Amino acid sequence: MQRTTFPSPLAGMAAGTVISFCALSAFAPQTFSSKIKLNLTLFSLLLGGAAGLIIPAAKSRNKAMVLAAQPGWSGWRNFVVSRREKESEEITSFYLQPVDPGPLPSYRPGQFLSIELIIPGELKPVVRTYSLSDFPDPKQPIDHYRLSIKKEPAPRGKDVPAGLASNFLHDHVRVGHDLRVRVPAGNFVLDTEANTPIVLISNGVGITPMIAMAKAAGQRQVWFVHGCRNGEFHAFRSEVNLLAAQHPNINVHYAYSKPSMADQGNYHSEGRVDGALLQRLVNVPADYFLCGSPPFMESLIAELKQFGINEASIHFESFNKALPTVKAVEANSDAAFPGAKVEFSDSSNSSTWSGEDPELSLLSLAEAEGLMPPCACRAGVCGTCATKLLAGKVNYINEPSAAVEPGEVLICIARPASAQVKLKL
Ligand SMILES: Cc1cc2nc3c(=O)[nH]c(=O)nc-3n(C[C@H](O)[C@H](O)[C@H](O)COP(=O)(O)OP(=O)(O)OC[C@H]3O[C@@H](n4cnc5c(N)ncnc54)[C@H](O)[C@@H]3O)c2cc1C
Repeated sequence: MQRTTFPSPLAGMAAGTVISFCALSAFAPQTFSSKIKLNLTLFSLLLGGAAGLIIPAAKSRNKAMVLAAQPGWSGWRNFVVSRREKESEEITSFYLQPVDPGPLPSYRPGQFLSIELIIPGELKPVVRTYSLSDFPDPKQPIDHYRLSIKKEPAPRGKDVPAGLASNFLHDHVRVGHDLRVRVPAGNFVLDTEANTPIVLISNGVGITPMIAMAKAAGQRQVWFVHGCRNGEFHAFRSEVNLLAAQHPNINVHYAYSKPSMADQGNYHSEGRVDGALLQRLVNVPADYFLCGSPPFMESLIAELKQFGINEASIHFESFNKALPTVKAVEANSDAAFPGAKVEFSDSSNSSTWSGEDPELSLLSLAEAEGLMPPCACRAGVCGTCATKLLAGKVNYINEPSAAVEPGEVLICIARPASAQVKLKL
Protein backbone atom coordinates (compact mmCIF):
# COMPACT_ATOMS: atom_id res chain seq x y z
CA MET A 1 0.00 0.00 0.00
CA GLN A 2 1.34 3.43 -0.87
CA ARG A 3 1.00 6.02 1.89
CA THR A 4 0.54 9.64 0.76
CA THR A 5 2.46 11.95 3.05
CA PHE A 6 2.53 15.13 1.00
CA PRO A 7 -0.39 16.90 -0.69
CA SER A 8 -0.69 17.01 -4.44
CA PRO A 9 -0.01 20.48 -5.92
CA LEU A 10 -3.76 21.19 -6.30
CA ALA A 11 -4.59 20.17 -2.74
CA GLY A 12 -1.54 22.15 -1.62
CA MET A 13 -2.77 25.27 -3.42
CA ALA A 14 -6.21 25.01 -1.83
CA ALA A 15 -4.84 24.34 1.65
CA GLY A 16 -2.26 27.14 1.38
CA THR A 17 -4.91 29.63 0.28
CA VAL A 18 -7.38 28.72 3.05
CA ILE A 19 -4.66 28.92 5.72
CA SER A 20 -3.41 32.34 4.50
CA PHE A 21 -6.98 33.68 4.21
CA CYS A 22 -7.96 32.55 7.74
CA ALA A 23 -4.77 34.03 9.19
CA LEU A 24 -5.49 37.30 7.44
CA SER A 25 -9.14 37.49 8.58
CA ALA A 26 -8.13 36.81 12.17
CA PHE A 27 -5.17 39.14 12.41
CA ALA A 28 -5.79 42.00 9.95
CA PRO A 29 -6.42 45.20 11.91
CA GLN A 30 -10.07 46.40 11.93
CA THR A 31 -8.85 49.77 10.65
CA PHE A 32 -7.88 48.34 7.21
CA SER A 33 -10.12 49.56 4.43
CA SER A 34 -12.10 46.98 2.47
CA LYS A 35 -9.87 47.71 -0.59
CA ILE A 36 -6.73 46.83 1.39
CA LYS A 37 -8.49 43.68 2.71
CA LEU A 38 -9.42 42.68 -0.88
CA ASN A 39 -5.82 43.15 -2.05
CA LEU A 40 -4.51 41.15 0.90
CA THR A 41 -7.02 38.38 0.13
CA LEU A 42 -5.76 38.20 -3.45
CA PHE A 43 -2.17 38.23 -2.16
CA SER A 44 -2.95 35.36 0.28
CA LEU A 45 -4.49 33.43 -2.61
CA LEU A 46 -1.28 33.82 -4.62
CA LEU A 47 1.04 33.13 -1.65
CA GLY A 48 -0.85 30.06 -0.46
CA GLY A 49 -1.16 28.72 -3.98
CA ALA A 50 2.54 29.14 -4.65
CA ALA A 51 3.50 27.43 -1.38
CA GLY A 52 1.08 24.63 -2.13
CA LEU A 53 2.69 24.16 -5.52
CA ILE A 54 6.32 24.52 -4.50
CA ILE A 55 6.44 22.25 -1.41
CA PRO A 56 5.04 19.09 -3.01
CA ALA A 57 7.09 19.71 -6.16
CA ALA A 58 10.26 20.02 -4.08
CA LYS A 59 9.38 16.83 -2.22
CA SER A 60 8.76 14.87 -5.40
CA ARG A 61 12.05 16.19 -6.84
CA ASN A 62 13.85 14.93 -3.73
CA LYS A 63 12.15 11.57 -4.16
CA ALA A 64 13.23 11.47 -7.80
CA MET A 65 16.80 12.25 -6.74
CA VAL A 66 16.76 9.38 -4.23
CA LEU A 67 15.56 7.04 -6.97
CA ALA A 68 18.18 8.38 -9.37
CA ALA A 69 20.84 7.65 -6.74
CA GLN A 70 20.10 3.94 -7.03
CA PRO A 71 19.97 3.30 -10.76
CA GLY A 72 20.22 -0.18 -12.18
CA TRP A 73 20.54 -1.41 -15.72
CA SER A 74 19.08 -4.26 -17.66
CA GLY A 75 21.01 -6.76 -19.71
CA TRP A 76 24.74 -6.36 -20.21
CA ARG A 77 26.73 -3.18 -19.56
CA ASN A 78 30.28 -2.49 -20.74
CA PHE A 79 32.93 -2.27 -18.05
CA VAL A 80 36.69 -1.94 -18.06
CA VAL A 81 39.22 -3.37 -15.61
CA SER A 82 40.63 -0.34 -13.81
CA ARG A 83 42.90 -2.11 -11.32
CA ARG A 84 44.27 -5.58 -10.45
CA GLU A 85 45.49 -6.55 -7.01
CA LYS A 86 47.03 -9.85 -5.94
CA GLU A 87 45.40 -10.91 -2.66
CA SER A 88 47.04 -14.32 -2.11
CA GLU A 89 48.84 -17.10 -3.96
CA GLU A 90 45.66 -17.98 -5.83
CA ILE A 91 43.24 -15.04 -5.49
CA THR A 92 43.45 -11.78 -7.44
CA SER A 93 41.04 -8.85 -7.23
CA PHE A 94 39.73 -7.09 -10.34
CA TYR A 95 38.30 -3.58 -10.01
CA LEU A 96 35.66 -2.83 -12.64
CA GLN A 97 34.42 0.56 -13.82
CA PRO A 98 31.63 1.20 -16.32
CA VAL A 99 32.74 2.51 -19.70
CA ASP A 100 29.80 4.94 -19.80
CA PRO A 101 29.70 7.88 -17.39
CA GLY A 102 26.46 6.72 -15.74
CA PRO A 103 26.32 6.06 -11.99
CA LEU A 104 26.74 2.62 -10.41
CA PRO A 105 23.99 1.21 -8.21
CA SER A 106 24.78 0.04 -4.73
CA TYR A 107 24.11 -3.58 -3.85
CA ARG A 108 23.26 -5.79 -0.92
CA PRO A 109 26.18 -7.34 0.96
CA GLY A 110 26.61 -10.89 -0.36
CA GLN A 111 25.37 -10.22 -3.91
CA PHE A 112 27.30 -11.18 -7.04
CA LEU A 113 27.93 -10.00 -10.59
CA SER A 114 27.72 -12.13 -13.71
CA ILE A 115 30.49 -11.24 -16.15
CA GLU A 116 30.90 -12.14 -19.79
CA LEU A 117 34.30 -12.90 -21.24
CA ILE A 118 35.28 -13.34 -24.84
CA ILE A 119 37.87 -16.09 -24.71
CA PRO A 120 39.76 -16.92 -27.92
CA GLY A 121 38.89 -20.41 -29.14
CA GLU A 122 35.55 -20.53 -27.31
CA LEU A 123 32.47 -20.79 -29.50
CA LYS A 124 30.35 -18.55 -27.30
CA PRO A 125 30.97 -15.85 -24.71
CA VAL A 126 31.85 -17.39 -21.36
CA VAL A 127 29.64 -16.23 -18.49
CA ARG A 128 30.66 -16.68 -14.84
CA THR A 129 29.37 -15.38 -11.55
CA TYR A 130 31.54 -13.67 -8.89
CA SER A 131 30.60 -12.25 -5.49
CA LEU A 132 31.21 -8.57 -4.84
CA SER A 133 34.10 -8.70 -2.37
CA ASP A 134 33.77 -5.22 -0.93
CA PHE A 135 31.06 -3.02 0.51
CA PRO A 136 31.26 0.71 -0.10
CA ASP A 137 30.43 3.45 2.36
CA PRO A 138 26.69 4.06 1.70
CA LYS A 139 27.27 7.82 2.00
CA GLN A 140 29.77 7.90 -0.88
CA PRO A 141 28.94 7.45 -4.58
CA ILE A 142 30.29 4.16 -5.98
CA ASP A 143 32.74 4.38 -8.86
CA HIS A 144 33.78 0.71 -9.16
CA TYR A 145 32.95 -2.87 -8.19
CA ARG A 146 35.51 -5.32 -6.87
CA LEU A 147 35.57 -9.02 -7.69
CA SER A 148 38.16 -11.40 -6.25
CA ILE A 149 38.83 -14.49 -8.26
CA LYS A 150 40.56 -17.75 -7.44
CA LYS A 151 42.59 -19.35 -10.20
CA GLU A 152 40.99 -22.79 -10.47
CA PRO A 153 43.47 -25.58 -11.16
CA ALA A 154 42.44 -28.84 -12.78
CA PRO A 155 41.23 -31.31 -10.14
CA ARG A 156 44.09 -33.49 -8.91
CA GLY A 157 44.48 -36.84 -10.65
CA LYS A 158 42.06 -35.99 -13.46
CA ASP A 159 43.01 -35.38 -17.05
CA VAL A 160 40.75 -32.37 -17.52
CA PRO A 161 41.50 -28.72 -18.33
CA ALA A 162 41.99 -26.13 -15.58
CA GLY A 163 39.18 -23.64 -14.91
CA LEU A 164 38.44 -21.72 -18.12
CA ALA A 165 37.32 -18.27 -16.97
CA SER A 166 39.39 -17.97 -13.79
CA ASN A 167 42.63 -18.87 -15.60
CA PHE A 168 41.84 -16.53 -18.47
CA LEU A 169 41.20 -13.72 -15.98
CA HIS A 170 44.45 -14.36 -14.10
CA ASP A 171 46.61 -14.90 -17.17
CA HIS A 172 45.18 -12.49 -19.74
CA VAL A 173 42.91 -9.86 -18.22
CA ARG A 174 44.93 -6.74 -17.40
CA VAL A 175 44.05 -3.14 -16.65
CA GLY A 176 42.18 -1.75 -19.67
CA HIS A 177 40.48 -5.06 -20.58
CA ASP A 178 36.80 -4.70 -21.55
CA LEU A 179 34.10 -7.06 -20.38
CA ARG A 180 30.35 -7.03 -19.98
CA VAL A 181 28.58 -7.17 -16.65
CA ARG A 182 25.06 -7.74 -15.39
CA VAL A 183 23.50 -5.76 -12.56
CA PRO A 184 24.28 -7.05 -8.99
CA ALA A 185 22.01 -9.94 -8.05
CA GLY A 186 21.58 -12.78 -5.57
CA ASN A 187 19.65 -13.70 -2.46
CA PHE A 188 22.51 -14.73 -0.20
CA VAL A 189 22.51 -11.38 1.54
CA LEU A 190 22.85 -9.87 4.98
CA ASP A 191 19.76 -8.07 6.22
CA THR A 192 21.30 -4.74 7.19
CA GLU A 193 18.15 -3.69 9.07
CA ALA A 194 18.49 -6.55 11.59
CA ASN A 195 20.75 -6.49 14.63
CA THR A 196 21.11 -10.18 15.49
CA PRO A 197 24.73 -11.26 16.06
CA ILE A 198 26.21 -12.90 12.96
CA VAL A 199 28.81 -15.58 12.37
CA LEU A 200 30.51 -15.32 8.98
CA ILE A 201 32.22 -18.61 8.18
CA SER A 202 34.29 -19.23 5.08
CA ASN A 203 37.14 -21.19 3.65
CA GLY A 204 39.29 -20.41 0.62
CA VAL A 205 37.70 -18.01 -1.85
CA GLY A 206 34.39 -18.28 0.06
CA ILE A 207 35.73 -15.27 1.98
CA THR A 208 34.54 -12.86 -0.76
CA PRO A 209 30.88 -12.32 0.27
CA MET A 210 31.91 -12.40 3.95
CA ILE A 211 34.04 -9.28 3.55
CA ALA A 212 31.09 -7.39 2.10
CA MET A 213 28.88 -8.63 4.96
CA ALA A 214 31.42 -7.77 7.67
CA LYS A 215 31.80 -4.26 6.26
CA ALA A 216 28.01 -3.80 6.16
CA ALA A 217 27.35 -5.22 9.64
CA GLY A 218 27.23 -1.87 11.44
CA GLN A 219 27.14 -2.20 15.23
CA ARG A 220 26.00 -5.81 15.45
CA GLN A 221 28.26 -8.44 16.97
CA VAL A 222 30.25 -10.29 14.30
CA TRP A 223 32.41 -13.40 14.37
CA PHE A 224 34.53 -13.57 11.24
CA VAL A 225 35.80 -17.15 11.07
CA HIS A 226 38.01 -18.07 8.12
CA GLY A 227 39.90 -21.23 7.28
CA CYS A 228 42.72 -21.65 4.76
CA ARG A 229 45.95 -23.58 4.29
CA ASN A 230 48.40 -20.95 5.55
CA GLY A 231 49.46 -17.32 5.21
CA GLU A 232 50.33 -17.66 1.51
CA PHE A 233 46.77 -18.67 0.72
CA HIS A 234 45.15 -16.23 3.12
CA ALA A 235 43.54 -13.41 1.11
CA PHE A 236 42.49 -10.10 2.67
CA ARG A 237 44.22 -10.71 6.01
CA SER A 238 45.36 -7.09 6.46
CA GLU A 239 42.05 -5.72 5.18
CA VAL A 240 40.01 -7.79 7.66
CA ASN A 241 42.48 -7.10 10.51
CA LEU A 242 42.15 -3.37 9.85
CA LEU A 243 38.35 -3.64 9.82
CA ALA A 244 38.39 -5.50 13.16
CA ALA A 245 40.79 -2.94 14.64
CA GLN A 246 38.37 -0.17 13.67
CA HIS A 247 35.27 -2.07 14.88
CA PRO A 248 35.58 -3.76 18.29
CA ASN A 249 32.27 -5.58 17.60
CA ILE A 250 34.08 -7.72 14.97
CA ASN A 251 35.83 -10.80 16.40
CA VAL A 252 38.23 -12.49 14.01
CA HIS A 253 39.38 -16.11 14.05
CA TYR A 254 41.72 -17.60 11.45
CA ALA A 255 42.24 -21.38 11.33
CA TYR A 256 45.24 -22.58 9.27
CA SER A 257 45.31 -26.24 8.29
CA LYS A 258 49.03 -26.25 7.38
CA PRO A 259 50.69 -23.24 8.99
CA SER A 260 54.34 -22.54 8.23
CA MET A 261 56.97 -21.07 10.54
CA ALA A 262 56.42 -17.69 8.91
CA ASP A 263 52.78 -17.73 10.04
CA GLN A 264 53.54 -17.56 13.76
CA GLY A 265 51.28 -14.96 15.38
CA ASN A 266 49.09 -14.55 12.29
CA TYR A 267 46.50 -17.22 12.98
CA HIS A 268 44.43 -18.31 15.97
CA SER A 269 44.13 -22.09 15.70
CA GLU A 270 45.65 -24.95 13.75
CA GLY A 271 43.29 -27.25 11.87
CA ARG A 272 39.99 -26.75 10.13
CA VAL A 273 36.96 -24.71 11.04
CA ASP A 274 34.49 -27.14 12.59
CA GLY A 275 31.49 -27.24 14.89
CA ALA A 276 33.59 -27.61 18.04
CA LEU A 277 35.52 -24.43 17.19
CA LEU A 278 32.30 -22.52 16.54
CA GLN A 279 30.80 -23.71 19.82
CA ARG A 280 33.88 -22.45 21.66
CA LEU A 281 33.79 -19.06 19.94
CA VAL A 282 30.11 -18.15 19.75
CA ASN A 283 28.20 -17.91 23.00
CA VAL A 284 24.98 -16.14 21.95
CA PRO A 285 22.14 -16.97 19.54
CA ALA A 286 23.22 -15.80 16.09
CA ASP A 287 22.61 -16.01 12.37
CA TYR A 288 25.18 -18.15 10.56
CA PHE A 289 26.42 -17.37 7.02
CA LEU A 290 28.58 -19.96 5.28
CA CYS A 291 30.49 -19.92 2.03
CA GLY A 292 33.22 -22.29 0.98
CA SER A 293 33.90 -25.67 -0.52
CA PRO A 294 30.92 -28.06 -0.60
CA PRO A 295 32.39 -30.63 1.88
CA PHE A 296 33.27 -27.81 4.29
CA MET A 297 29.74 -26.42 4.21
CA GLU A 298 27.98 -29.78 4.27
CA SER A 299 29.77 -30.90 7.41
CA LEU A 300 29.35 -27.54 9.15
CA ILE A 301 25.66 -27.28 8.34
CA ALA A 302 25.12 -30.78 9.74
CA GLU A 303 27.03 -29.87 12.93
CA LEU A 304 25.18 -26.59 13.41
CA LYS A 305 21.87 -28.44 13.14
CA GLN A 306 23.09 -31.00 15.68
CA PHE A 307 23.84 -28.15 18.07
CA GLY A 308 20.21 -27.13 17.78
CA ILE A 309 20.72 -24.10 15.52
CA ASN A 310 17.46 -23.41 13.76
CA GLU A 311 17.55 -24.06 10.00
CA ALA A 312 16.18 -20.55 9.41
CA SER A 313 19.31 -19.12 11.04
CA ILE A 314 21.69 -20.97 8.70
CA HIS A 315 22.37 -19.25 5.36
CA PHE A 316 24.83 -20.52 2.80
CA GLU A 317 26.02 -20.16 -0.76
CA SER A 318 27.89 -22.69 -2.82
CA PHE A 319 30.21 -21.48 -5.58
CA ASN A 320 30.51 -24.90 -7.11
CA LYS A 321 27.25 -26.82 -7.10
CA ALA A 322 23.97 -27.11 -5.27
CA LEU A 323 24.50 -28.76 -1.90
CA PRO A 324 22.67 -31.99 -1.12
CA THR A 325 21.48 -30.16 1.99
CA VAL A 326 19.19 -28.19 -0.29
CA LYS A 327 16.15 -30.38 -0.47
CA ALA A 328 15.09 -31.52 -3.91
CA VAL A 329 11.74 -30.25 -5.05
CA GLU A 330 9.20 -32.94 -4.21
CA ALA A 331 8.01 -34.97 -7.15
CA ASN A 332 4.22 -34.90 -6.91
CA SER A 333 1.63 -34.21 -9.56
CA ASP A 334 4.37 -32.33 -11.44
CA ALA A 335 6.84 -35.23 -11.29
CA ALA A 336 9.58 -35.47 -13.89
CA PHE A 337 8.16 -36.82 -17.16
CA PRO A 338 10.32 -39.44 -18.92
CA GLY A 339 9.80 -39.42 -22.68
CA ALA A 340 8.74 -35.74 -22.72
CA LYS A 341 9.12 -33.89 -26.01
CA VAL A 342 11.11 -30.68 -25.59
CA GLU A 343 10.81 -28.00 -28.27
CA PHE A 344 13.17 -25.05 -28.71
CA SER A 345 11.07 -22.39 -30.41
CA ASP A 346 13.70 -20.02 -31.86
CA SER A 347 15.73 -22.74 -33.52
CA SER A 348 12.75 -25.01 -34.39
CA ASN A 349 14.77 -27.83 -32.82
CA SER A 350 13.31 -30.52 -30.62
CA SER A 351 14.52 -33.40 -28.51
CA THR A 352 13.29 -36.04 -26.09
CA TRP A 353 14.04 -36.09 -22.38
CA SER A 354 14.32 -39.83 -21.84
CA GLY A 355 14.53 -39.74 -18.05
CA GLU A 356 17.39 -42.30 -18.08
CA ASP A 357 19.46 -39.71 -16.30
CA PRO A 358 16.96 -38.03 -13.94
CA GLU A 359 19.46 -35.21 -13.31
CA LEU A 360 19.85 -34.27 -16.98
CA SER A 361 18.78 -30.64 -17.15
CA LEU A 362 17.00 -28.87 -19.99
CA LEU A 363 20.19 -26.83 -20.39
CA SER A 364 22.25 -29.98 -21.04
CA LEU A 365 19.54 -31.24 -23.41
CA ALA A 366 19.65 -27.94 -25.34
CA GLU A 367 23.47 -28.07 -25.49
CA ALA A 368 23.32 -31.64 -26.82
CA GLU A 369 21.20 -30.19 -29.67
CA GLY A 370 23.96 -27.70 -30.47
CA LEU A 371 22.26 -24.74 -28.79
CA MET A 372 24.32 -22.42 -26.62
CA PRO A 373 22.05 -20.74 -24.06
CA PRO A 374 23.79 -18.34 -21.69
CA CYS A 375 24.60 -20.02 -18.40
CA ALA A 376 27.09 -19.71 -15.56
CA CYS A 377 26.64 -21.55 -12.25
CA ARG A 378 24.67 -24.60 -13.54
CA ALA A 379 23.19 -24.87 -10.06
CA GLY A 380 20.15 -22.56 -10.01
CA VAL A 381 22.11 -19.91 -8.14
CA CYS A 382 23.01 -17.12 -10.55
CA GLY A 383 19.92 -16.83 -12.79
CA THR A 384 21.92 -16.43 -16.03
CA CYS A 385 20.06 -19.25 -17.80
CA ALA A 386 16.53 -17.96 -17.05
CA THR A 387 14.47 -18.84 -20.14
CA LYS A 388 10.81 -18.29 -21.10
CA LEU A 389 8.67 -21.42 -20.72
CA LEU A 390 6.21 -21.14 -23.61
CA ALA A 391 4.30 -24.36 -22.94
CA GLY A 392 4.24 -27.28 -20.53
CA LYS A 393 5.57 -27.72 -17.01
CA VAL A 394 8.97 -28.31 -15.46
CA ASN A 395 10.22 -29.25 -12.04
CA TYR A 396 13.55 -28.48 -10.43
CA ILE A 397 16.26 -31.02 -9.64
CA ASN A 398 17.16 -28.96 -6.59
CA GLU A 399 15.68 -25.86 -4.98
CA PRO A 400 16.66 -22.76 -7.01
CA SER A 401 18.03 -19.79 -5.15
CA ALA A 402 18.04 -17.31 -8.06
CA ALA A 403 14.99 -15.13 -8.56
CA VAL A 404 13.16 -15.58 -11.86
CA GLU A 405 10.53 -13.54 -13.62
CA PRO A 406 7.03 -15.06 -13.88
CA GLY A 407 6.91 -17.35 -16.92
CA GLU A 408 10.66 -18.04 -16.87
CA VAL A 409 12.51 -21.12 -15.66
CA LEU A 410 16.11 -21.84 -14.73
CA ILE A 411 16.94 -24.42 -17.35
CA CYS A 412 20.22 -25.43 -15.67
CA ILE A 413 18.27 -27.27 -12.97
CA ALA A 414 14.94 -27.87 -14.71
CA ARG A 415 13.55 -31.06 -16.27
CA PRO A 416 10.20 -31.70 -17.97
CA ALA A 417 7.16 -32.37 -15.81
CA SER A 418 4.67 -32.70 -18.67
CA ALA A 419 4.50 -34.62 -21.95
CA GLN A 420 5.49 -31.51 -23.91
CA VAL A 421 7.66 -28.58 -22.97
CA LYS A 422 8.38 -25.58 -25.17
CA LEU A 423 11.21 -23.19 -24.39
CA LYS A 424 12.06 -19.85 -26.02
CA LEU A 425 15.49 -20.91 -27.20
C1 LIG B 1 26.97 -17.13 -6.66
C2 LIG B 1 28.40 -17.45 -7.01
C3 LIG B 1 29.41 -16.62 -6.57
C4 LIG B 1 30.75 -16.91 -6.86
N1 LIG B 1 31.73 -16.09 -6.40
C5 LIG B 1 33.02 -16.37 -6.65
C6 LIG B 1 34.07 -15.54 -6.16
O1 LIG B 1 33.83 -14.54 -5.49
N2 LIG B 1 35.35 -15.86 -6.48
C7 LIG B 1 35.66 -16.98 -7.23
O2 LIG B 1 36.84 -17.21 -7.50
N3 LIG B 1 34.67 -17.79 -7.69
C8 LIG B 1 33.38 -17.52 -7.44
N4 LIG B 1 32.38 -18.32 -7.95
C9 LIG B 1 32.75 -19.45 -8.82
C10 LIG B 1 32.87 -18.96 -10.27
O3 LIG B 1 31.61 -18.57 -10.75
C11 LIG B 1 33.40 -20.03 -11.23
O4 LIG B 1 32.63 -21.19 -11.08
C12 LIG B 1 34.87 -20.36 -10.98
O5 LIG B 1 35.68 -19.23 -11.23
C13 LIG B 1 35.33 -21.49 -11.91
O6 LIG B 1 35.10 -21.12 -13.23
P1 LIG B 1 36.15 -21.50 -14.37
O7 LIG B 1 35.57 -21.08 -15.66
O8 LIG B 1 37.51 -21.03 -14.02
O9 LIG B 1 36.17 -23.08 -14.26
P2 LIG B 1 35.37 -24.10 -15.18
O10 LIG B 1 35.94 -24.12 -16.53
O11 LIG B 1 33.93 -23.80 -15.05
O12 LIG B 1 35.73 -25.44 -14.44
C14 LIG B 1 35.41 -25.63 -13.08
C15 LIG B 1 36.28 -26.77 -12.52
O13 LIG B 1 35.99 -27.96 -13.24
C16 LIG B 1 37.19 -28.52 -13.76
N5 LIG B 1 36.87 -29.15 -15.05
C17 LIG B 1 36.99 -28.61 -16.29
N6 LIG B 1 36.58 -29.52 -17.22
C18 LIG B 1 36.21 -30.62 -16.54
C19 LIG B 1 35.72 -31.90 -16.92
N7 LIG B 1 35.52 -32.21 -18.21
N8 LIG B 1 35.47 -32.80 -15.95
C20 LIG B 1 35.65 -32.52 -14.65
N9 LIG B 1 36.12 -31.33 -14.21
C21 LIG B 1 36.39 -30.40 -15.16
C22 LIG B 1 38.16 -27.38 -13.89
O14 LIG B 1 39.50 -27.83 -13.82
C23 LIG B 1 37.79 -26.52 -12.70
O15 LIG B 1 38.46 -26.97 -11.54
C24 LIG B 1 31.07 -18.05 -7.65
C25 LIG B 1 30.02 -18.88 -8.10
C26 LIG B 1 28.71 -18.59 -7.78
C27 LIG B 1 27.63 -19.51 -8.28
